[in-house]
Amino acid sequence: VQWSRVDKTETTCGYCAVGCRFDVYTKDDDFLAVQPTEAENAPANDFSTCVKGKFGYEFVDDEARLEKPLVRISDERPLPAGQKESEEYPGFREVSWDEALDVVAEGFQDIRSETGPDALACFASSKGTNEEAYLVQKFARSVLGTKNIDNCARLCHSSTVAALQQTVGYGAMTNRINEDVAEADAYLITGSNTTESHPVLSTRIKQNLRDGAEAYVFDPRKVEIAEHATQYARTRPGYDVAWLNGLTRYIIEHDLHDRSFIEERTKNFEELREKVDPFTPEEVERLAGVPPEELETAARGIAEADKVVFGWAMGMTQHAHGTQNCLALANLALVTGNVGKQGAGLSPFRGQNNVQGGGGDMGTLPTSLPGYQDLTDPEVLDKFEDEWGVRPPDEEGLKVPETFEEAGKGNIEGMYVVGENPALSEPDIDHATESLEALDFLVVQDIFMTETAEFADVVLPAATFPEKDGTFTNTERRVQRVRKAMDAPGEARTDMDILCDLAGRFDHDWDYDSSSDVMDEITRLVPIYGGMQHERLDEKGGIQWPCWDDEHEGTDFLYEEEFNFDDGLARFVPADMGKPGELPDEEFPLTMTSGRVLYHWHTGTLTRRVEGLMHHVGESFVELNPTTAETLGVSDGEYVRVTSKRGDIVVKAEVTDRVGEGVVFVPMHFAAGAVNKLTQEHFDPQSGIPEYKVASVRVDAL
Ligand code: SF4
Repeated sequence: VQWSRVDKTETTCGYCAVGCRFDVYTKDDDFLAVQPTEAENAPANDFSTCVKGKFGYEFVDDEARLEKPLVRISDERPLPAGQKESEEYPGFREVSWDEALDVVAEGFQDIRSETGPDALACFASSKGTNEEAYLVQKFARSVLGTKNIDNCARLCHSSTVAALQQTVGYGAMTNRINEDVAEADAYLITGSNTTESHPVLSTRIKQNLRDGAEAYVFDPRKVEIAEHATQYARTRPGYDVAWLNGLTRYIIEHDLHDRSFIEERTKNFEELREKVDPFTPEEVERLAGVPPEELETAARGIAEADKVVFGWAMGMTQHAHGTQNCLALANLALVTGNVGKQGAGLSPFRGQNNVQGGGGDMGTLPTSLPGYQDLTDPEVLDKFEDEWGVRPPDEEGLKVPETFEEAGKGNIEGMYVVGENPALSEPDIDHATESLEALDFLVVQDIFMTETAEFADVVLPAATFPEKDGTFTNTERRVQRVRKAMDAPGEARTDMDILCDLAGRFDHDWDYDSSSDVMDEITRLVPIYGGMQHERLDEKGGIQWPCWDDEHEGTDFLYEEEFNFDDGLARFVPADMGKPGELPDEEFPLTMTSGRVLYHWHTGTLTRRVEGLMHHVGESFVELNPTTAETLGVSDGEYVRVTSKRGDIVVKAEVTDRVGEGVVFVPMHFAAGAVNKLTQEHFDPQSGIPEYKVASVRVDAL
């Protein structure tokens, strides 16, 4: 490398929602390296990046990047004379952008005029920028006119959002990484494999634990952070409301609750007291498997600490009663007075880099407009109509699981999938792929030929994060700049370019010169982003919402004075105990749970292309407790068949006491041995999140 010709660009990590900032080094259009920066107002800039953030970028230059638009060869769109089928992508032909976008416009237009706009659905990404996510929902609502817009956050933290909106007001983390999570006196960590899923954040926590903070980890699997905890309690998958309500009950019964906080800042305490009353320590042990002494130690530790952070992730959310789990967590934080003060708070650790912004704040949701604004409020609709020239639909649309259900029945005919891979990420993927096959018209916009793109009528090659400008919002509500360091390969384009061109084919003149213009529009329409202009972000490094206008400094931790309700009071919303959608039986006697490993990311579309990461974990596996393995006659390293009512996979057995007896774990990142061949289609009624964390299975030696 001739280093004198190397360019350095400061940007934000494109993997997880910790949102580390770093410099990207490029030469021409080659991605060379990543180096952490001394950035201002960044979440974790004085640490090194994690292994994915540092070494996980071979995918950017990967030869398999899509470089040209593709149209499927079919009876409807036969191969024109003189053209040939793509050698790389059989069944498709390479076309110009003009032709591809004409086919897309015509496909959507036909469905819209024959069946109506609500026969169309858009599936937005949490990986793209805020500006792109905003444009996807604008395209759905104002150009296609459909109410059906959703995104992959439906599958990860939608139950968190539903619970926090009911209890404290905003569906978001209440505090900061550096000054709160890293400074707490104690932690309750549950359903979060923090070390492997949010590595730099977990480094912060572990450093604080070394300095004397306490941590209580509740999880069916003894995740790495449990090794550093004051106490680890193994829980039975699917029974979290029991132990959470049990902690709250113990704290109230022993007069350890924060009486003045409850009196001055909350309501509905008596309903909560009544609801948690049946959850005696003995009942908690019976339901959730947590012994009374462990419950007592955690209850006392949490109640007696001054500042407690409640950290959770998908082990809490991805259940048929995920919203109830998150309500129970919020109630516990409120009963101990740990919301609205520095060093404490409710900390849902969000997954993808931009799931807070692109998956929520920007309105890629069927239930609200950008900034969580009420889509039935005439004043809000007037405001959007004035800006867009079109009134958005004023009804709720379909959530992702409903969209797939309706597609299977033929009621959704066309789908536009931007940067997501539902053919691997949906529960019960055999059923999900039947729905994709049933569509009349599918458009997929992505950087690789994903498992979903293989079903598409049109595939549009897109750009990835070092190839574009805009912003991401990390898990602590901090909006940070993303900057272009290199060009996208071949003819690949940014989502913004593609959407603007596509809107033009429907006679909508989207006159944006840059992503900064899009953010300016967002600042006019979305009050919590009122002061997020790119120039301010460039100057300040990162700003946490709400940031009401260009004089406002942003909000570091929420609810210091009042909660986000008219009366300023938080609400206790008592949580109901639900059971998993599926229980073990004679045929399927084991409970399977799923999750992540350090070296991979989501459906593995990116990380499975990085040799160094594949070297560490190159294939799917199933973790079995030694006693379970012995009963089954299975040895470590042997291939086994894991079967549920939906299907089966063959994977390597890893015998470990990380999981308890009768519980098995399969990671979510692999297409071969895909865990979602086994998962079930039970959904949380409030949020629509699937129950990825519990499925009944059988394991057989081969
Ligand atoms: Fe990127 Fe997350 Fe790793 Fe930070 S912790 S470098 S944001 S993957």
